[in-house]
Amino acid sequence: MKKIAILGSTGSIGTQTLDVVRSNGDIEVLGISAGKNIDKLEEQIREFSPKLAAVWDEEKARELAVRTKDTNTRIVAGMDGLLELASMEGSEILVTAIVGMLGIRPTIEAIRAGKDIALANKETLVTAGHLIMPMAREYGVRILPVDSEHSAIFQALNGEYRKEIHKLLITASGGPFRGRKRKDLEKVTLQDTLKHPNWVMGQKITVDSATLVNKGLEVMEARWLFDVTLDQIQVVVQPQSVIHSMVEFEDGGIIAQLGTPDMRLPIQYALYYPHRRYLDGERLDFAKLGSITFEEPDMDTFLGLPMAIRAAEEGGSMPTVFNASNELAVKKFLRQEIGFLDIYEIIGQSMERHKKIENPDLDEILAAENETYQWIESRW
Ligand code: NDP
Repeated sequence: MKKIAILGSTGSIGTQTLDVVRSNGDIEVLGISAGKNIDKLEEQIREFSPKLAAVWDEEKARELAVRTKDTNTRIVAGMDGLLELASMEGSEILVTAIVGMLGIRPTIEAIRAGKDIALANKETLVTAGHLIMPMAREYGVRILPVDSEHSAIFQALNGEYRKEIHKLLITASGGPFRGRKRKDLEKVTLQDTLKHPNWVMGQKITVDSATLVNKGLEVMEARWLFDVTLDQIQVVVQPQSVIHSMVEFEDGGIIAQLGTPDMRLPIQYALYYPHRRYLDGERLDFAKLGSITFEEPDMDTFLGLPMAIRAAEEGGSMPTVFNASNELAVKKFLRQEIGFLDIYEIIGQSMERHKKIENPDLDEILAAENETYQWIESRW
């Protein structure tokens, strides 16, 4: 039995991780967690009987403890609870399916406790990749990508020499507004934004896909995961979301990973790496598909990608400011307090005013995040 814990088990990646667990039958779930959705967490406790369940919201945690008194699951709360879950005894892999920079501390805690990380929480690598990757090497733990693009690259690199990578080609669907121009984006609504053409995902990443911030975060994530320079990463729009990403090697040969858009594949690949298991669901039918097309990303309209690249080039604390300002801007957009284009405005202005710290440690990253939030709150 493989033993895992899941940070963010009630979300899109978390529930799909539990689907993979359910269909395989040889993974034991030792720990699960949620922000506040205790109804779903209670269902999961009753189905998977984990030893530990962590809830961020302390009042909800108390309520859940009362509701689940008849089970053997211990309920813990707040950041201490997430840290306990991350490093809990017996678990071999921590699936980081939480959303946002909140994942940094539990991820670090898990690495220190020698757990492999099945990493969906890209915000952690974007902001603290310079700390996480050396730490993973030091503690001999594996960072197994769950993001479909990074899993595709990881799969394409199987048996290859990383030194022979010429470039990584990260594919993008282009999001729901592909083909539109800046003027067309002035009036787009939250509902329009949440209609991703190919993937069903959590709300934050769906908005990030529409702004192309998600692709920018993925470029930064790839840089840390695969130890390449920013010049070695190219984004290619592939609207059908069939090619999940590619690697071009020194000799010009390109290896791609293809499949229907189904996050259970990269999740399962990370959990069983280097083995593959049967996965039910739709298979790619090339005759039905007909064609796969490619385009350049529209960097003049979708500023999320060029701004992310600028933040990555500047380095230091700038990716944290890029990420933190986006996190808060997306929250405001989801609450319908700001418009779609304001997301770019908030990120741009936050980066503009920030005085970069070179090589920030964890406290400096969290302070930069805090300071960015405060500045945005005082103005928007
Ligand atoms: P969701 O919003 O669907 O789920 C987020 C999870 O995190 C939920 O379990 C949520 O709990 C929990 N959570 C939220 N806030 C807190 C908090 N303060 N403390 C503890 N737990 C909290 O997100 P996704 O599953 O879509 O995304 C998760 C991560 O995976 C993101 O980093 C995303 O970028 C990445 N990713 C997602 C993909 C996808 O297909 N969804 C694809 C590739 C990467 P609650 O239910 O209580 O709110």
